[in-house]
Amino acid sequence: MRPPTDCMLCPLCSGRTNIVLPSGDLSSGIAFVGEAPGESEDLQGRPFVGRSGKILDKMMAEEGLDRSRVIITNTVKCRPPKNRDPTKEEMAACRKFLDSELSQCRIVIGLGKSACRDILGYEGRMGEIANKRISVVIGGKETVFIPTYHPAACIYSKEARAGLRETIRAAREELEAGH
Ligand code: SF4
Repeated sequence: MRPPTDCMLCPLCSGRTNIVLPSGDLSSGIAFVGEAPGESEDLQGRPFVGRSGKILDKMMAEEGLDRSRVIITNTVKCRPPKNRDPTKEEMAACRKFLDSELSQCRIVIGLGKSACRDILGYEGRMGEIANKRISVVIGGKETVFIPTYHPAACIYSKEARAGLRETIRAAREELEAGH
């Protein structure tokens, strides 16, 4: 299920240029879920194409994982004003679209706090849960959720870089194992 092009289910509709739908291999079984589209994503209508996307692409390339082999998406499909975090209500309104994107996934990777808030209801420090495998129910189906750091956090934090790199490596190994 995709949002209609005129979706007005939450207030984020008022500031968007484009609804940003997932990219990559939608049948891959492995998904990376970020927070929300930023300015570049809103203009191009594609997820993770701005500064954070470049960091993610570089780390994926270094770990031998081409982004076209996984699903790349966000908790909400429209850009929040001034790049603020999406609210609980906005994420809830968009959740049925996210659930639909993730319905065939065996592994869902949450990039940063908003994804963990939306999928796990977790509000604590990323360091407490990063790279743990947590069983969650998404769209009525049990799935493995791996929380990790958002690429933007990797600019200044060595811990975040190591954590995200470890998750990308795990995703690549899962893809290669093909189970
Ligand atoms: S963020 Fe999601 S629910 Fe809100 S208007 Fe955009 S597509 Fe619709």
